[in-house]
Amino acid sequence: MNKIEIIPLGGIGEFGMNCMGIRYADEMIIVDAGMGFPEETPFGVDISIPNFDFLEEYRDDLTAIILTHGHEDHIGALSYILRKFNLPVYSSRFTLALTEKRLSEFDMLGDVLLHRVSAGDSIEIGNFRIEFIHASHSLVECFSLAIHTPVGTLIHTGDYKIDDTPVIGKPYDLKMLSRIGDEGVLALLCDSTNSTVPGRTPSEQAVIPAFEEIFEQTEGRLIVSTFSSSMHRLQIIFDIAHEFGRKVCVLGRSMQKNVEIAEELGLLKITHGTMIDLGTSRALDDDEICYLVTGSQGEVRAALWNMATSTYKGMEVEKGDTVVLSARIIPGNEKNISRLIGHLYKRGANIIEEKRRLVHVSGHASQEDIRIMVETARPKFVVPIHGEYRMLFRQKEFIKNHVAGYTDDNIVLIENGNILEIDQYAATVVEKRDLHKTFIDEESMEEIEYDVVRERKKLAYGGAISLVVTIDKASHRLAGDPQITFQGVAGLNPMNGFAASAREAVAQSISEMKPEQIADRNVFKENLRIHLKRYIQKELSSRPVIVTTIVEV
Ligand SMILES: [Zn+2]
Repeated sequence: MNKIEIIPLGGIGEFGMNCMGIRYADEMIIVDAGMGFPEETPFGVDISIPNFDFLEEYRDDLTAIILTHGHEDHIGALSYILRKFNLPVYSSRFTLALTEKRLSEFDMLGDVLLHRVSAGDSIEIGNFRIEFIHASHSLVECFSLAIHTPVGTLIHTGDYKIDDTPVIGKPYDLKMLSRIGDEGVLALLCDSTNSTVPGRTPSEQAVIPAFEEIFEQTEGRLIVSTFSSSMHRLQIIFDIAHEFGRKVCVLGRSMQKNVEIAEELGLLKITHGTMIDLGTSRALDDDEICYLVTGSQGEVRAALWNMATSTYKGMEVEKGDTVVLSARIIPGNEKNISRLIGHLYKRGANIIEEKRRLVHVSGHASQEDIRIMVETARPKFVVPIHGEYRMLFRQKEFIKNHVAGYTDDNIVLIENGNILEIDQYAATVVEKRDLHKTFIDEESMEEIEYDVVRERKKLAYGGAISLVVTIDKASHRLAGDPQITFQGVAGLNPMNGFAASAREAVAQSISEMKPEQIADRNVFKENLRIHLKRYIQKELSSRPVIVTTIVEV
């Protein structure tokens, strides 16, 4: 087979859960293993991961996992894939540090081979040779990948923007990309998240003026909330706080952990004495403190939500506080953020949002960044990745209309579960698989069966009925009245004697059964369930979940 196969398991046609298999001649590497956060919470499930069972048929082909960067939607599902397939993992020092933290939470650290690579490195894994291109993004130590195969070279951009003046680290390595472009690129797999946005994405430094103004004008306490992974932003806030004579207190577990890791690795540079703990912060005057907190998406367990609705370790938002929401709204979080802002206003805080001041810039490539990417890499084929279908489509339209040499024939739209074959002549989807997501229970962090989610849905819409029937072991006859209890069943009025008539109906149906129908308890149980189901449907027009229990005396 002289073709490359590209098999996305997630991240195409949706936001998050990025994961892709790339296969050549019985060898397959996986790029990223991310979590997703379903927009409409399906019945108590807040987290999804790709369906890794799909990879079972490729078990013998799998050779490695490459992580482009450390965002949750690229590394969050790593422990789940590693439990099924113990593969070596390659990534940057910072991404691996975040990964190690996650794996140790699952007690898996000892079992996994982690290989540290740096920008500019080239490694060989079987038939693949992979070069790591330094990419600028909202996080640090991120990669685009040049994946060389005997058929040709793929560029996987990861998440990126072309930032000429990042706060931490170097600009996007266009020189290296251009050199690989000179050598010839077969296909570019390109981030589409911001493909609907015209122009260039502003540099991470673009938020500095607004923050300087805010620090200068604010008299009370300052509370800044941003993503705990936005390293450039955190550096800016530490720097400006120091400049304007405020100490910084970091609140929220994920933010504290990330700051600790980044400082340890020398990525974050915090002037000695600037960062203080909560206890020390309480003794300071209002204009001497800046709290850096988690919860910019209105997450109900995060520090900011607690400070706005009750207290966080004795800290609460008060009249005179200024709260800066230095983040974009991730689709699906609109309602929670709106509620959070309501609570903050109720407490008398002044709120500064992205809409009103330039306190946030995106980490993703806008249209002109995408143009630079395509013109530098000069691929034969473009495959938009990372984003909802609308964004993939808009990337295709933009490139078609604005970059010479690209048409419907060499920009290919794919979906999760597609198998895209690429060679020198064509890029064609040859197969479409139906991949449902795997859901994760947030309490136990274990996988939830698809059937369980379906059952929860039925419970949510129909409620539940529990039926307990007591049977005499010897005579197979009823011993006492059946017991029926209802939970959340619509159309049920407890005052009109419906429970009593349902009980009678059950007793009646049992009296009509032959002893041998009752003797087989499983058959009996199922018959009871069906009888009651029909009765409820006829009387109440509802379809609750029915749980039957047989007690023998
Ligand atoms: Zn990212």
